[in-house]
Amino acid sequence: MKLILLCIFCILSSALLAAQQRSTQSVTTAHNTSKFNPQQATDSLINAIPASIRVKADDYTYGNHWLWFWNFLIALVTGWIFLFGGLSVRIQKIVFKIKKPNRSNLLYIIFFIVCTFILALPLDFYQNFVREHQYGFSNQNFGDWFIDDLLSLLVEVVLAAPFFVLIYAIFRCAKQYWWLWGAGLSVFFIFVVIVIYPVFITPLFNNYVPVKDSALRSRVLTMARANGIDVDEVYVYNESAQTKQYNANVTGIAGTTRIALNDNVLNNCTADQVMAVLGHEMGHYVLHHLYTLVLEFGLLIFIGFAVVKWAAEKLLAKYNGRWQAGPVHQVTSLPLLVVLFTTWFFLFTPVSNSLIRNVEIEADMYGLNAARQPDAIASYMVKTADYNKIDPGYLEEMFFFDHPCRKKRIATAMKWKAENLKGY
Ligand SMILES: [Zn+2]
Repeated sequence: MKLILLCIFCILSSALLAAQQRSTQSVTTAHNTSKFNPQQATDSLINAIPASIRVKADDYTYGNHWLWFWNFLIALVTGWIFLFGGLSVRIQKIVFKIKKPNRSNLLYIIFFIVCTFILALPLDFYQNFVREHQYGFSNQNFGDWFIDDLLSLLVEVVLAAPFFVLIYAIFRCAKQYWWLWGAGLSVFFIFVVIVIYPVFITPLFNNYVPVKDSALRSRVLTMARANGIDVDEVYVYNESAQTKQYNANVTGIAGTTRIALNDNVLNNCTADQVMAVLGHEMGHYVLHHLYTLVLEFGLLIFIGFAVVKWAAEKLLAKYNGRWQAGPVHQVTSLPLLVVLFTTWFFLFTPVSNSLIRNVEIEADMYGLNAARQPDAIASYMVKTADYNKIDPGYLEEMFFFDHPCRKKRIATAMKWKAENLKGY
């Protein structure tokens, strides 16, 4: 066993060394080291972006900020309709004819998820269909979009409904410690969904097939092995059926690890850009960003449950006569708990975006070191500049951006290039 490990280590080391030597040569021979100025290179790349693209990116980003607020408002209105509008009481009259608590709870939860979907549908339609077409980002006709939307609803019901039944079954036993159990189970549930989603759920929406370009496949697999990612295939999925945007990922645990890129990346990017993008994605995987984020968001969820417990008990003491939503361990508290949690995460948006942005910065740096393609990642940032404001202010970036802005990502690549041209 030790011998096998030693052999694998030697193969990985030599592959990594060969990749680094090859890439270093490509960086150092391309430019005169003393004349390369990273600030000027960044400025010239940014300045070359047409004004019309910058206006489009700014408009789309501002719209996203407003949609963040409108989605929160819709969640509040939905909660109001359930609690003050009497929708919850009407549903209770139907579902509590069933005397078995888990079954009546399941029915109440399904009603809640479906009603929430219907109430949010107009905004969902505008945000994800009308607006995406207005900006030229969508390739989907209405029928296909709506079928995908219904499929998402079905996935939500299948995953979330049994989870909430379990949560309320435990709430009934846990009494005053319900919030601790709720927090622990929620973190576990999120982890499970994140792990199974790319392997079992995304194939419901798209077809995954191996990349046919053997030269590109070989380069990607070499980089993967050199970075300790044990896979033997690279997949492409047909997301151009839905969107013109660019996506890729390296996900999974144990035997389910998979490298995948959408066909927009494969068909519209150079091989070097593909390497640069996948280097970033491999960074997320190798640096265990999934686990980092689950732990960080887990902490937010635990604190959130403590705050929600306090707020829910205060509100139920005041309004329960009208809402008929409590006590909190009954399933009828679900609309109230969802409103309170939505408010909690709405208020903590700058924190959650900053947590994600931090791992994106790390993945950018990892990708540069793994793929050694600073020009390719910079040109990729320019190519995809039309759906993200290129140079937001400090507060705007902290509040609304879950990735560093384009200007910073290009500047990082150019700094990396300047230092690597010097050699060390
Ligand atoms: Zn990323």
